[in-house]
Amino acid sequence: MEEKKIGSAEEYSKYHVQGSLIKSRILYIHVNQGFSALKKILATLPDEVREQLSKTVYIGEWYPLSMLVMLDQAIAQVLAGGSERVFEELGVFSADVNLSGAYEPLVHQDVHAFLELTAVLHKQYQDFGEAQYLRLNDNGALLQFRYPQSPPASYCKSAIGYLRRAVELCSGRQVTVRMTGCLRQGDPLCEYRVEWH
Ligand SMILES: [Zn+2]
Repeated sequence: MEEKKIGSAEEYSKYHVQGSLIKSRILYIHVNQGFSALKKILATLPDEVREQLSKTVYIGEWYPLSMLVMLDQAIAQVLAGGSERVFEELGVFSADVNLSGAYEPLVHQDVHAFLELTAVLHKQYQDFGEAQYLRLNDNGALLQFRYPQSPPASYCKSAIGYLRRAVELCSGRQVTVRMTGCLRQGDPLCEYRVEWH
């Protein structure tokens, strides 16, 4: 079956994300579905995006947010029949990939220290928005994100998976992450309530 072409996500072209985010998506496709799936996904993207993603994606370089948004939409369409559930899974995978190797020292700290650092490091991974960490109690915290415009669905959903997996990597048990606010739903900010034991 011929897959439908992904639109340009123009509204996100003026913001940027780190190559590590794009790279973890490519790896996700490779590891879970293989090269033929990657080809199929790339085929649904506009020519210039497909060309860029077919070349090496560099960690440490900035890429347009629109590129990540289109890639996420293509992944959902080709691998999940359009279901947004796959975004949470992408977040889990991203935590596994990005919190190993050079960033592994981050996860040896206690959960609160990790979440606080996550907010501090926000600007290292995207050039838009502000993140804030709020301690609730010994086993709970809020992470709040203020964005200049409504973020893409894949961003909000993947954060749930990312935070849950990251807290597990910090030895948190029975981790729950709930989205308690979202700019996309008319709230003033995107907010996640993280709890663990
Ligand atoms: Zn949101």
